[in-house]
Amino acid sequence: MDDFQLLIDLHRPAKRQGPGGDTETKLAMELAGLDLSRPLKIADIGCGTGASTILLARELDADITAVDFLQEFLDELQIRASEQGVADRITTLNCSMDALPFDEGEFDVIWSEGAIYNIGFEAGVSTWRRFLKPGGKLIVSEITWLSATRPAELQSHWHSEYPEIDVASAKIGIVERHGYSPQGYFVLPVHCWLEDYYRPMQSRFDAFLERHGHSNQAKAIVDAERHEIALYERFRDYYSYGVYVAKKV
Ligand code: SAM
Repeated sequence: MDDFQLLIDLHRPAKRQGPGGDTETKLAMELAGLDLSRPLKIADIGCGTGASTILLARELDADITAVDFLQEFLDELQIRASEQGVADRITTLNCSMDALPFDEGEFDVIWSEGAIYNIGFEAGVSTWRRFLKPGGKLIVSEITWLSATRPAELQSHWHSEYPEIDVASAKIGIVERHGYSPQGYFVLPVHCWLEDYYRPMQSRFDAFLERHGHSNQAKAIVDAERHEIALYERFRDYYSYGVYVAKKV
C-alpha cells in the first residue's frame, strides 16, 4: 500500500481532515453576510469528507460543488450527505484545485477550510477569484502566525513545511492585492485543533497500526502525526488557522 492509501485509511473515518469546527464554520457564514434571498451556488474546495460541505448544505439554500482530488473522501462525503438528507444539494467533483473546470463568475461563494495551502494561499486566492460573481464571497482558512515573533525551532519547522506561513496582516494584504475587500478574520480556537481534530485522530492510531501489521510505512505516518501534535501542544500560542472572509471587488 502506498503512503496515499495509508493516509486515506487513517483520515477517511474522521469527521474532518484538518482543524475546524461547526461553530466556526457558522461564524464564517455570518461574517460573510451571504445574500439569502435566493439559492446560492457554492464551491467547497479541498472538501475532504465534507464537514463544512454538509453543514453549509444544512444551513443554507445552496447548490454546492464539493471538490477534492481523493475519490475515497468524496465517496465518504456522499454517504454522509445521504445520511443527513442533503445529498440532493451537493455534487462531488474529483479534480485538482489548480485545474478547476469552472466558468468565469459561476459562484456566489468559494469556501475552503484547511486546504488552500496545497496550491499556496496566494495562488489560490488569485486564481479562484475569476470563478466568483462580482461581489461574491471567499472564505478560506490558512495556517497563520499569531504574533510577529516566535521560537526559532518553530519558525524553522514551518519554514520547511510551508514557507508561505505568515501573520494575518500579510495574508490580508494578499487578499486585498488580488481584488478582494476583507470582510472578517478570526482565529480558530484551541478546541478546533485538539477536540475536533487531533484527539479523534490519536484514538485511531492503534487500530490503524494493527490493520497495517505495524509496518514501517504505517509507523512513519503515525510518528509524523504525533510529531505535529506535540509541536502544536508546545507552541499553540504562536500559530493557528486564521479564517479569512472577503468579498470580490
Ligand atoms: N476541508 C476539509 C476539512 O476541513 O475537513 C479537508 C481538509 S484536509 C487538511 C485538505 C484536503 O485537501 C484533503 O481532503 C485533500 O485530499 C485535499 N487536497 C489536497 N491537495 C489537493 C489538490 N491539489 N486538489 C484538490 N484537493 C486537494
